[in-house]
Amino acid sequence: MDAAEFRKHGYRMVDWIADYWEKVEDRRILPDVKPGEIRSRMPQAAPEAPEPFDDIMADLDEIVMPGITHWQSPGWFAFFPANSSPPAVLGELAAAGLGVQGMLWATSPACTEVESQVMDWMVDLMGLPQEWKTTGPGGGVIQGSASEATHMAVVIARHVKSSQVTADDMVAYTSAQAHSSVEKGARVAGIGHLRLVETDANLAMSPAALSHAVAADRAGGLTPAFVGSTVGTTGTTAVDPLRAIGEIAGSEGMWHHVDAAFSGTAMICEEFRHYQDGLELVDSYVFNPHKWMLTNFDCSAMYLADRRPMIDALSITPPYLRNQATEGGEVIDYRDWQVPLGRRFRALKLWFVLRSYGAEGIRAKVREDVRLARWLTERVEAHPLLELVAPTTFSLVSFRHTGSDEETSRIAEGINSSGWAYVTASILDDRPLVRVSIGQTNTEARHVRRLWELIKQLTEEKT
Ligand SMILES: *Cc1c(COP(=O)(O)O)cnc(C)c1O
Repeated sequence: MDAAEFRKHGYRMVDWIADYWEKVEDRRILPDVKPGEIRSRMPQAAPEAPEPFDDIMADLDEIVMPGITHWQSPGWFAFFPANSSPPAVLGELAAAGLGVQGMLWATSPACTEVESQVMDWMVDLMGLPQEWKTTGPGGGVIQGSASEATHMAVVIARHVKSSQVTADDMVAYTSAQAHSSVEKGARVAGIGHLRLVETDANLAMSPAALSHAVAADRAGGLTPAFVGSTVGTTGTTAVDPLRAIGEIAGSEGMWHHVDAAFSGTAMICEEFRHYQDGLELVDSYVFNPHKWMLTNFDCSAMYLADRRPMIDALSITPPYLRNQATEGGEVIDYRDWQVPLGRRFRALKLWFVLRSYGAEGIRAKVREDVRLARWLTERVEAHPLLELVAPTTFSLVSFRHTGSDEETSRIAEGINSSGWAYVTASILDDRPLVRVSIGQTNTEARHVRRLWELIKQLTEEKT
């Protein structure tokens, strides 16, 4: 494909994406395919001869689209959103075209410097501690996912303690409501023991239970090494008390990592910042612009209060990576801030998004989603046959039928078979619940109103 052909097909591809977004609302949100059906429509072997691009585009519609789950539909209320947006896609396209590999500052200086600057911007935008800027002792880096950031935090915690004790005798703590990536991180790092600390009535980690578990482990000859707090759990967006946990972590010499994967985006609005009180007692932090901040996957923002332990844990310099800029010590080499060596120019899409929407555009989006969630919460609370399962802290509403579990499950199934809306049927304390997550790029008030009408109808309908 030469430049002229690329132009032609490129314009067409942009049209294709714009058409998709314009009409995604009318598509059936969940695909109707059986396992293996999509790949069975593809040939057994890769083509030997070049194929016309028109044929490839035709197969995109015919083979791929029937198997797509429409995460960009405004009826997306499942899991958390994985938002895309026009400026993010254009930033992604520019990054793909440049095709740089930014493992070192020297392998493409702009790749590193744009990322550092954008991450420093976000320290101010989100009310994070000033020390977390790359111009200070800490710094920010874009990881592929919150899970990777959390795994890395556990690896750093292990490294910090490794001069005193082997990983077998280390303990990692997190709440029973934390994301599975904390447990997986402990496995990846070979931490000997993981404790799932009890939560309170609001499903937040209990500091008293944490202290208790730490004391019991010390008495048993083990070494507390890591505690993972969550701001906005995946189940119900519960918020752990960061300050109380941070104080325990400080006095016990544990690494304190915060997972704010979804809810972190809300901190761009000052009225939510009380939920992150105690950040000065945190060693590492992650949130996902690729969930609620209009930036398509993958873009996970990780911060360190002090970057030295991370670089001690991860830096290895074979001869072929040696260069003057690195040796002069005046540049950041992001390969030391992540597990892989190679890295793409992910900061471009985030930069495009922050500039295109401006902080006020993102704040307006967050506030509108939260307003819609509160509106839905009021309706659920006022309905005699429905009850909230957890407080609506941000834009996630969790509820169940006051009658039987079967009726709760029937509401979720009814929504998901509507064709236009999709929610998660989750489980808490062995009982089903309906989990409505509001925040998709294209969701408006009318979609939430329509969802409420459907919920009401399914709730009141006799089985
Ligand atoms: C979504 C989520 C994750 C996982 O995020 P990835 O970027 O997909 O790894 C981790 N923690 C919490 C609290 C989440 O909600």
